[in-house]
Amino acid sequence: MGNYRIAVLPGDGIGKEVTKGAVEILQAVATRFHHQFEFVYGLIGGEAIDQKGTPLPDETLAMCRQSDAVLLGAVGGPKWDQNPPHLRPEKGLLAIRKEMNLFANLRPVKFYDSLIDSSPLKAEVIQDVDLLIVRELTGGLYFGKPSGRHVEDGEETVVDTLLYKREEIKRIVTTAFELARKRRKKVTSVDKANVLESSRMWREIAEEVARDFPDVKLEHMLVDNAAMQLIRNPKQFDVLVTENMFGDILSDEASMLAGSLGMLPSASLSTSGPSLYEPIHGSAPDIAGQNKANPIAMILSSAMMLRLSFGLHEEAKAIEKAVQQVLTSGYRTADVARNGQRIVSTKEMVNEIKATI
Ligand code: ATP
Ligand code: MG
Repeated sequence: MGNYRIAVLPGDGIGKEVTKGAVEILQAVATRFHHQFEFVYGLIGGEAIDQKGTPLPDETLAMCRQSDAVLLGAVGGPKWDQNPPHLRPEKGLLAIRKEMNLFANLRPVKFYDSLIDSSPLKAEVIQDVDLLIVRELTGGLYFGKPSGRHVEDGEETVVDTLLYKREEIKRIVTTAFELARKRRKKVTSVDKANVLESSRMWREIAEEVARDFPDVKLEHMLVDNAAMQLIRNPKQFDVLVTENMFGDILSDEASMLAGSLGMLPSASLSTSGPSLYEPIHGSAPDIAGQNKANPIAMILSSAMMLRLSFGLHEEAKAIEKAVQQVLTSGYRTADVARNGQRIVSTKEMVNEIKATI
């Protein structure tokens, strides 16, 4: 029996709906396994801009730092798209990652047999896919300075900077190797070393780190080739490690191996302090407030939280098994339903998973 304090940041759009579902699932787990989960709620994103005038209020950050783990829904929506840069919901997301040093974003991509018809890819390509994308989360193009618009030689000019320090690359690659050691012992380091200096240094460091992991195989792959290989033969991959933006793009692509963006969870690990768990999808304004969103990515994110932050392996497994069982029984939200399958709402899906737990 354990006591855990969980900071919950529902955010905007479907973030609110799927977070509510995940909290209900965690409450069911607490009851079954006799734990105490204390949920404390905070504002982030568009809702925080509306209520507090900033996408990441200080009190939200303080609350997260004083918790054992953070659960985050998603931020953003058309309402705030025209806001100036410092009043955009996404700023809140980038700020919490940076402020909490959430440098390593783990995105497992697992194929569920029962969703075979939900992927546009052939069964023989995706069956048994089990890979892990390790995305660097606090550097690269998203944070590098200079960044912005100016006039140069009378011409409107714009710049973003792909910036990394040696230690930042070393720690993310090391994390990937440590994770690969517990899996199938292969790391694919993804870069664009034929063009980018940052990628050349990334490759050097990956080689250096690899010397400390003689039992793990390292291969390098150019990002354009990796994008292609993910569709051609995803089973060749165990752990992929890459910089921030490459990781963002490749993981949305990889989500189709699992059938939908609404299926993929993620964990963001910190150099120090609590980790953060969120689905890889965004706030999905097109379906927000309609009780349609697939809550599974968020629910699986909470299972990752139980395992990685609290060491509650049985409990995490109970959630994952319940998800698998419910999918096998034929329950489908709209995003993964195919040809005439009955579609359930977000709430029905949550209730079914809860009942199974
Ligand atoms: P972000 O920039 O925050 O990653 P995005 O532009 O990638 O956001 P999403 O909000 O992830 O966009 O939505 C992309 C598409 O996937 C939308 O059509 C959305 O409806 C769909 N989608 C995303 N998440 C889910 C979900 N949980 N269930 C069903 N559909 C989803
Ligand atoms: Mg996206």
